[in-house]
Amino acid sequence: MASRSPPVPVTGFARCCHTDAVTPQPIDPDTKDWTWVLSRPCPDCGFDAASVHHSQVADHIRNDAGGWVSRLNQPGVRIRPQPTVWSTLEYGCHVRDVHRIFNHRIRLMLTEDEPQFPNWDQDATAIADGYASRDPATVATELFDAASIVADTYANVPADAWTRRGLRSNGSEFTIATISIYHLHDIVHHAYDVRNA
Ligand SMILES: [Zn+2]
Repeated sequence: MASRSPPVPVTGFARCCHTDAVTPQPIDPDTKDWTWVLSRPCPDCGFDAASVHHSQVADHIRNDAGGWVSRLNQPGVRIRPQPTVWSTLEYGCHVRDVHRIFNHRIRLMLTEDEPQFPNWDQDATAIADGYASRDPATVATELFDAASIVADTYANVPADAWTRRGLRSNGSEFTIATISIYHLHDIVHHAYDVRNA
């Protein structure tokens, strides 16, 4: 996926000389290919693709969203644990957008034959959308809604459609079944990132 693959490296802050505003610098692009998470356990978050069936992804996504709502309603969510690591708020914005992007991709795979997914520059999105200055309660609601929508999409995939294919811009091939697992790992890993920051 073009989604941010964890951890999120950033280059630090720039403090404007005229105000006290702190603006995150553009972050280093993450070009790592995380498709290996489909074939072996993740040594960081412990996610094991072999232990999850694609028919379970919708429920896992709904449960995960509840965890993010709790996290985003705690104090201090705007604080970066390190200058080079996203805050809980920034991760929450990203996870919201991951759900939206994957919903779009699954719908493409359901309606088109072997679509190639548009590239998503997640780092540019974080800057352009002002992740760091968003309202945490609003993001929590948006994340929960986006998770519900994509969970419904997965829950309604016809039994004979899980093998439909799609292509990332880097050539990686997915089926709806494998991309659902890939999607789930991404958000599980980001919850790990936040817990262990
Ligand atoms: Zn992981």
